Amino acid sequence: MKKNIDINAAYKPDGIEGEGYFLTTLDKVVGLGRKNSLWPLPFATSCCGIEFMATMAAGYDLSRFGSERLSFSPRQADLLMVMGTISKKMGPILRQVYEQMAEPKWVLSVGACACSGGIFDSYSVLQGIDRVIPVDVYVPGCPPRPEQIIEGFMKIQHLVETESLRRRESEEYKKLLGTYGIQ
Ligand code: SF4
Repeated sequence: MKKNIDINAAYKPDGIEGEGYFLTTLDKVVGLGRKNSLWPLPFATSCCGIEFMATMAAGYDLSRFGSERLSFSPRQADLLMVMGTISKKMGPILRQVYEQMAEPKWVLSVGACACSGGIFDSYSVLQGIDRVIPVDVYVPGCPPRPEQIIEGFMKIQHLVETESLRRRESEEYKKLLGTYGIQ
C-alpha cells in the first residue's frame, strides 16, 4: 500500500516565482547551500566527546542535517566543534587548528568545560575556549545531551544561513579577530 510520507526538504529561500522561474538573491542561495552541508571538525578531548559520538550515531544521526562528513583536517572543515576539557597547554593547539581552517568558519563550544572550564577551576584548565578563539554558539551542560548538541548545531545553521556573504569582510569581524591577535 502506498503511504503518504511527508518529507521536509530544505526550505526554499524567499524570492519571486512564476511559471518556470524562481528569483532570489545570491547570498540566500549560498546560505542555503552552506547551512545544509557543514563539515564539522570534532575537537573532542573528554566525556563530552562521547555525547558527540551518540549525536553522530543512528539514534540522533547528525547526517540528517547534512553533516555526516566529519573532517579531521582543519583545511577541509568549516565548523569547529570543541567538546571537552581544554587544558591551558592545549590552548595554543586549539588556536592553531582554528587558524588553519579557511573562511568562512564557525565555532560551537559544547559543554561546560569548553564554555567556561566547568568544574575544573584549576591552574591547568583553560576557563573557556573563548579566551583563545572566538565562539559563535555555546552549548551548556555537563554533559549536554545529544538533543542539546543538535540544538546548538541548528543555531549555527541559522547563523550560516542568515549571515551576509560580506560579514567576514566587515570591520566588526576583523576587529573581533583582532582582539584575539588573529589576522
Ligand atoms: S562538561 Fe562535563 S561531561 Fe563535558 S567534558 Fe566537562 S566534565 Fe566532561
